[in-house]
Amino acid sequence: MPSSTSGSSRRLFARARRVLPGGVNSPVRAFKAVQGQPPFIARGTGAHIADVDGRRYIDYVMSWGPLIHGHAPAGLTKALVTATKRGTSFGAPTALEVQLAERVCSLVPSIERVRFVNSGTEATMTALRLARAATRKDKIIKFQGCYHGHADPLLVQAGSGALTLGVPTSPGVTKASAANTLVANYNDLESVKRLFRIHRRKIAAVIIEPIAGNMGVIPPQKGFLEELRELCDQSGVLLIFDEVISGFRVALGGAQTIFGVKPDLTCLGKIIGGGLPVGAYGGRADLMTHIAPDGPVYQAGTLSGNPLAMTAGTWTLSRLSERLYHQLAKLGDQLAEGLAEVASEAGVQLRVNSFGSMVTPFFTNRPVCNYRSATDANTRLYGVFFRSMLRHGIYPPPSQFESWFLSAAHEAHDIERTIDAARLAMRAVARS
Ligand SMILES: *Cc1c(COP(=O)(O)O)cnc(C)c1O
Repeated sequence: MPSSTSGSSRRLFARARRVLPGGVNSPVRAFKAVQGQPPFIARGTGAHIADVDGRRYIDYVMSWGPLIHGHAPAGLTKALVTATKRGTSFGAPTALEVQLAERVCSLVPSIERVRFVNSGTEATMTALRLARAATRKDKIIKFQGCYHGHADPLLVQAGSGALTLGVPTSPGVTKASAANTLVANYNDLESVKRLFRIHRRKIAAVIIEPIAGNMGVIPPQKGFLEELRELCDQSGVLLIFDEVISGFRVALGGAQTIFGVKPDLTCLGKIIGGGLPVGAYGGRADLMTHIAPDGPVYQAGTLSGNPLAMTAGTWTLSRLSERLYHQLAKLGDQLAEGLAEVASEAGVQLRVNSFGSMVTPFFTNRPVCNYRSATDANTRLYGVFFRSMLRHGIYPPPSQFESWFLSAAHEAHDIERTIDAARLAMRAVARS
């Protein structure tokens, strides 16, 4: 069996491992979950990437979501060159920040004021600080399997039994930082009600991915977000939507416009930076005035709102349209249906979850609606599937529990080629 990487990538990975932990700057890139060696990427155009050994792939990672217009769109490259020549960072106000902020506030219904940061992690971390300050309460609720970046209070999983407090999922996270994080079950309102009952009047906020994307794609069940909103209102608890993936991915105003649910605070990232490091949090003006320098809640950033990031964000958001979302959803359906079909031909048990241009094929025979059912999926089979796809020039996410992302640059014939490769990969899975 040919290996999935060749000479130059292998040599670079060996060098990388001597100077970077695991050879990477973010763990999933090391391919540990699929028992492979990562190709090192040299360049990307549109829906395609090429590695340092000259192999080409149709890309479904798309930098984990930001690249909704594909790799290196000509207009963006040009805008960035122009911006670069004017200076890459001033640490002082620029018109570009105002321009992007106005666009975000006009697109996302619940955002009246927005603060730009450099990553989704910073956005969620600060949104929680703000929620705690505004409510003068300490506890927060997150959902098992939702990812909100790597701030200490969010690297937490459910303890055993409803009374137990969150427990750290990473060494170095203290019990104290985990103790104020309560963990509920996605798509299970009862689990939230239970926590509300036990910790009455101590809960500042509930944070949720309105469409879960970090345990694979799991859409919210009918009524779940609406009822969560009501529950929060009844108890004076703030609702935070982490739309770092779903904002601008599923609709112009994010998942909140699709479901008609208005969160108090929204976290953004990924697409808002168009491939440059940007995150943002925003919401009701009365809440956002708690943030320094208007209010006492401290948060700052040397490179926040820098001209390159703002240019990429503005370029990217200005080219989104209903038409584009329609086109992306069509491709998403084509991919989801194609994967299901070739699995069934090969006799492989597969459940494909999708929402517009987000797709996850789960190697399981049961519906996937929460963390437990997601983790029922067979990760070994996903590994077999993934390695076969990579050998055939398709680059899916190197983990079962991630979303595939489509872009404006993907075309119907890319999906057809992908399904052809998936047909072979499913046979390999069936044989394994
Ligand atoms: C990616 C992601 C984050 C973290 O963003 P970073 O920019 O990687 O820090 C937070 N929340 C969600 C839902 C994400 O998908």
